[in-house]
Amino acid sequence: MSEPCAIGQAAFRFHGGIHPPECKDATRDRPIRDLPLQAKYVLPLQMHIGEAARPVVQVGDTVRRGQLLAQAADFVSASVHAPTSGLIAAMDEHPLPHPGGLSARAITLVADGADTPVEPLEPWPDYSQRSPLELRHRLREAGIVGLGGAVFPTAAKLATDGKTAVHTLVLNGAECEPFITCDDRLMRELPEEILDGARIILHLMGASRCLIGIEDNKPEAQHSLNQAACGDDRFTVVSVPTRYPAGGEKQLLKVLTGVEVPRGKRATHFGLLCLNVATVAAVYRAVVQGEPMIDRIVTVTGGGIVQPENFRVRIGTLMGAVVAAAGGYTVGTDRLLMGGPMMGFALLDDAVPVVKASNCLLALRPQDRPAEPPPAPCIRCSLCADACPADLLPQQLYWHARAKAFERAVDHHLFDCIECGVCTAVCPSHIPLVDYFRFAKTEVWAAEREKSKAHQAKQRFEFRNERLARIKAEREAALAKKRSALADKTPNAGVAQFEPNPVPQASADAAVEAARARAKARRALLEAEREQHPTAPEQEPPA
Ligand code: SF4
Ligand code: SF4
Repeated sequence: MSEPCAIGQAAFRFHGGIHPPECKDATRDRPIRDLPLQAKYVLPLQMHIGEAARPVVQVGDTVRRGQLLAQAADFVSASVHAPTSGLIAAMDEHPLPHPGGLSARAITLVADGADTPVEPLEPWPDYSQRSPLELRHRLREAGIVGLGGAVFPTAAKLATDGKTAVHTLVLNGAECEPFITCDDRLMRELPEEILDGARIILHLMGASRCLIGIEDNKPEAQHSLNQAACGDDRFTVVSVPTRYPAGGEKQLLKVLTGVEVPRGKRATHFGLLCLNVATVAAVYRAVVQGEPMIDRIVTVTGGGIVQPENFRVRIGTLMGAVVAAAGGYTVGTDRLLMGGPMMGFALLDDAVPVVKASNCLLALRPQDRPAEPPPAPCIRCSLCADACPADLLPQQLYWHARAKAFERAVDHHLFDCIECGVCTAVCPSHIPLVDYFRFAKTEVWAAEREKSKAHQAKQRFEFRNERLARIKAEREAALAKKRSALADKTPNAGVAQFEPNPVPQASADAAVEAARARAKARRALLEAEREQHPTAPEQEPPA
């Protein structure tokens, strides 16, 4: 059993990794501020891994803050709620935060400024009276997803195979990506929300202990959570050496428990469950306060921002409005990223909404980022493989991705790549390796979607044919039944039918002979008449 009030030290380390410049000073001491209400919100139906949510409102409806706008459409899906009260003005394609500027279906809400709340979900302060099923259902209703970047629906993540009991909850407070401080501020300002959320998960999973991993560059957050957890000996705050990407799920599990989750396995197979600190705070608010996920904390930072801040931002706020609230862009800013410099991606513009995955808006000027020399050929130095925290061979993956040999890339464990960007950072040839891997994954997913579409179309065709055959067979059976019923009602039913007697063969031959003789006689008569009257018109004698 752990010592209460003692901060533990990580006993293990993960393979590879790097220590990039942290760049967190601009916002680490900026308290979380609520972003003022906006006039317009755009809510994509798919802000999570899995199926897009299904709208339950229509254009022209008025809604209240927290009202359900779109329902989770599948087991792996998440509901979407109104961030404020107002009018549903549109439901159409809208640009998303996506590296390629992709658009997708979204609900546009025009705020009425009143911010009127809907009747909340029933608060469950005594959540221990609730079953795991009820609690998972609540998280699904409230649209809770992982806020560490994966945006995997939390209710689905908590559904285990039932074979292995989860004994240890690991809270991810590492926040290893440079520039980002939203989790740091949350841990410093609202440690009780995090711990209460963790207690709900411990109850739900039947787990007995919770390890909270925080990098050693956040001593205030370690102290804050350690103080709040003091007296509950299920909790241990563990100081993790600052090394990117310590916040990767597998990497943190290795560092805190020594367990290496192999390829194709989940942490729950080893009795472990890992959740981000912001996710469990959202769990607390959904269960104890009955609040759906309508906001998140976003770090707005970088040399391109006038006054870097940490904001609590309502989901659907346009990014340009968030930047404006932070004083706007500095002169010369030419790049806006969603996420940090390692795992984030550049946006085409800021007219896209903050979504559940938006932990950071990073605006940069050319002088804020390293020079980007043109890529040179791979020199097979293997530095990328040495640094890869997922134990992959990035140079091999690169060859296959570049040659569009995607199946071979998959064979080389493309989908174990966590897109941490470490290989790109260490490559002396400046090859944008992670961009190739993202591209390859997108292509594989697109091919899978096409395959699945074709499969569904084939199934639909077969179902249709089967249905038509079934209808035809049923009609024929009904017709046969009718005929048989009719036959039962006919008075002569059961009487043998009349059949003409066959003509004997001998008399048939005689009749033919007689007909031939008559024809011969007619021809002879005709010949005789022609001889007597040579000009008479040729005509057949009457038969
Ligand atoms: S680090 Fe770059 S140059 Fe070296 S092996 Fe990897 S891809 Fe090739
Ligand atoms: S981006 Fe992928 S391949 Fe590159 S270091 Fe990270 S996990 Fe390894």
